Amino acid sequence: MDFLHSGLADVQRHLAFVSVDPINWKFYVQVFSWSVTIFESYLLLRQYPLYSKTSPPEALAPHISKEDFAKSQIYGKDKAQFALFSKLFSQCVDSAMLQYGFYAWCWGAAGTILGKLGYGTDYEILQSIIFSFTMYLLSSLPTLPLSVYSTFVLEEKHGFNKTTPALFVGDLVKSWLIAFALGAPFLAAFLYIFQWAGDRFVPWLMGFMISFQLLMVILYPTVIQPLFNKLTPLSDGELRSRVESLAGKLHFPLKHLYEIDGSKRSSHSNAYFFGLPWSKHIVIFDTLMQQSKPEEVEAVLAHELGHWYYLHPTKMMAISQFHIFTILALFPAFLHAPPLLRSFDFPKHVAAKPPTIVAFLLFQMILTPLEAFISIGMNAVSRHFEWEADRFACELQDQLKEESMKDMGDRLGRALITLHVKNLSTVWVDWLYSAYHHSHPTLTERLKVRELLSLELAIISICASRIF
Ligand SMILES: [Zn+2]
Repeated sequence: MDFLHSGLADVQRHLAFVSVDPINWKFYVQVFSWSVTIFESYLLLRQYPLYSKTSPPEALAPHISKEDFAKSQIYGKDKAQFALFSKLFSQCVDSAMLQYGFYAWCWGAAGTILGKLGYGTDYEILQSIIFSFTMYLLSSLPTLPLSVYSTFVLEEKHGFNKTTPALFVGDLVKSWLIAFALGAPFLAAFLYIFQWAGDRFVPWLMGFMISFQLLMVILYPTVIQPLFNKLTPLSDGELRSRVESLAGKLHFPLKHLYEIDGSKRSSHSNAYFFGLPWSKHIVIFDTLMQQSKPEEVEAVLAHELGHWYYLHPTKMMAISQFHIFTILALFPAFLHAPPLLRSFDFPKHVAAKPPTIVAFLLFQMILTPLEAFISIGMNAVSRHFEWEADRFACELQDQLKEESMKDMGDRLGRALITLHVKNLSTVWVDWLYSAYHHSHPTLTERLKVRELLSLELAIISICASRIF
């Protein structure tokens, strides 16, 4: 542990200037955040002309009808226009909030509310909780009309929306209540660790964050998700026996197999698994089952089980722990930095003894450009995992020595095409736009890989049959 602390102290020495130099952080954050927005808008402008193409890529042409292709192009165009508008709008709002001292105002308002409740400002954790929720609620208001428009105009126009206004409001209120019910104790514990461990908070906070993530793995499906969707055990039939048999052959610790009423809100479709290492649950969207045949859904699950087989969720979690560690390791320099708070319009008496939550918030804003690069890296890793999972599904026949699985790659390809076509997903994708935004390879890329893979498998089996 001492080695860790001396390493961390070294980092702090290099960053010592933060606590004394009067740097104009606000200006930098404005420049950073506008740069990211301008870059993302540029990506959208690169992608936009591709929605005017009149025919699909060759690899897809046999699988997508003219009408479906035309529909997906119009949907993509509408979404891109909306994305550009909401991006610029949100950036203007954020930028104005930053410029006119919104965060400092929120901290003051939280102090006033605290006073009305009969507490003094020495109750920093309580004030931090009030501050966070005031900020969360107020800053989500300006973008609320955007989400109303996206659901009831954009998705509606293209036939995806199934959400009623009552469901929309219910979801919103529920998500606010959950944010408060989970967020308040999380924040209290998070801030308490800072008070308790002083500058040696890094390992303690890491331990806490990992425990919280594991707790969420249990709580999300059992408590949170049922508030929004209904999960019912998948009824007996071809699909159930296919999935159970596949899970059994792979020794996947399947505890429950659910069907989820995704169609309640939208007709977009999907499938996923979750749970602890010894007890997993698979969830299939009712929409996926309506759109694809049981053997194709089985292939989608074979892909999902590929993620499990290669420990992708665990690897992703390890990467995100490393990410959190880096952030926490840099943070102490910003924790005791009055000039940082002063540059964001906080009054002198607050800046003199910076509240942890405020320092953390401002620190995260400063990290914006770094986070943009990290998300590109994370997407690249995720795309690699998708490729591995596809390959896993295609090679199941060899692994399990099951003749019946020889067409798994074809079935997966058909399911992917159906998913893509029914979801009107974008067909033509600009490479830079995709590298930045997509955690999954594009359909064309996946089909190409699958073809290469089946070619490779065919060659291997030809070679094998020659040898033996
Ligand atoms: Zn996947």
